[in-house]
Amino acid sequence: MICLGLEGTAHSLGVGIVDLDGRIAANLTDMHRPPVGGIHPREAANHHAQRIQPLLRSALKAAQIRLRDVDLVAFSQGPGLGPCLRTVATAARALSLSLDVPIIGVNHCIAHLEIGRRVTRCLDPVLLYLSGGNTQVISYANGRYRVFGETLDIGLGNLLDKFGREVGIPFPSGPEIEKVALKGMNLLPLPYTVKGMDVAFSGILTAALNRYNRGSSLEDLCFSLQEVTFAMVTEVAERAMAHLGKDEILLGGGVACNHRLREMTSRMAEEREGEMFAPPPALCVDNGAMIAWTGLLMHTSGLEMGIEDTRVEQNMRTDSSEIPWLSSR
Ligand code: AMP
Ligand code: MG
Repeated sequence: MICLGLEGTAHSLGVGIVDLDGRIAANLTDMHRPPVGGIHPREAANHHAQRIQPLLRSALKAAQIRLRDVDLVAFSQGPGLGPCLRTVATAARALSLSLDVPIIGVNHCIAHLEIGRRVTRCLDPVLLYLSGGNTQVISYANGRYRVFGETLDIGLGNLLDKFGREVGIPFPSGPEIEKVALKGMNLLPLPYTVKGMDVAFSGILTAALNRYNRGSSLEDLCFSLQEVTFAMVTEVAERAMAHLGKDEILLGGGVACNHRLREMTSRMAEEREGEMFAPPPALCVDNGAMIAWTGLLMHTSGLEMGIEDTRVEQNMRTDSSEIPWLSSR
């Protein structure tokens, strides 16, 4: 059985082709990069509408299959930006109807967790999901994936991108901030905002920009931003592991590509006699393969959707999704 997965919750459009063994035959991503400013949802949606056909063709070519070989269409149903979600869901419905194959809507956050479990072979992790829009600590408990901590304002990736925009580092700024941070020597004081199991980043952004405007070095600021925010999310993830009695931490989302984050979280896990797992970068960022793989898990465990069930959910909750493939736990 071959599943075609379409991802389009935000600025990235993804097409993945995955089979029942979890073999990823294709996983292509086309990212909307606004020439100036941040992401405008309508512009990102227009990008997805324009790019989906060529990206789909390239994915079929890479997988060496034809469209009619597809047995299942999966798409990201939420959470995400409304115009982007609707554009990609429309494409998924059109494909499902014209190919006469089932369609399944996937929870994007759960897809990050499931592709991570699949490729890293961890079993029952605490997922630290750090992307542009999302910052969440997710794990399995009592029959559902649940959120144990999250950002109270902006996502960690968004903090890096907003800081980058103000200091002249183009979007997405995370990778360049990581490089500049290597030259930082001094840890500058920035607010460390952990509230129970939750974190907040907007005050850190303001403080970092104030320091930049008063002449602090960009190298020191990038270094300090990483040290402070990564320590915050590592602390919350560790507390979730302790409370849940779990010894695996899994990273997901674009920020999970960062080497310093990987180092910090793996040291934390080792000190707890646990282990850190991180998928390769192409499977950390938003991608179609994770949607296809989670769609296969849903379909083969008996979940079905009619076209009328495929309405997108901008605020889809992690614990609203059934996960019958884990029901034996
Ligand atoms: P996603 O929303 O999951 O596709 O991830 C995109 C986000 O990840 C953007 O905010 C990027 O700035 C951020 N990002 C990507 N690579 C890195 C990196 N090496 N270090 C920190 N952030 C990163
Ligand atoms: Mg994501």
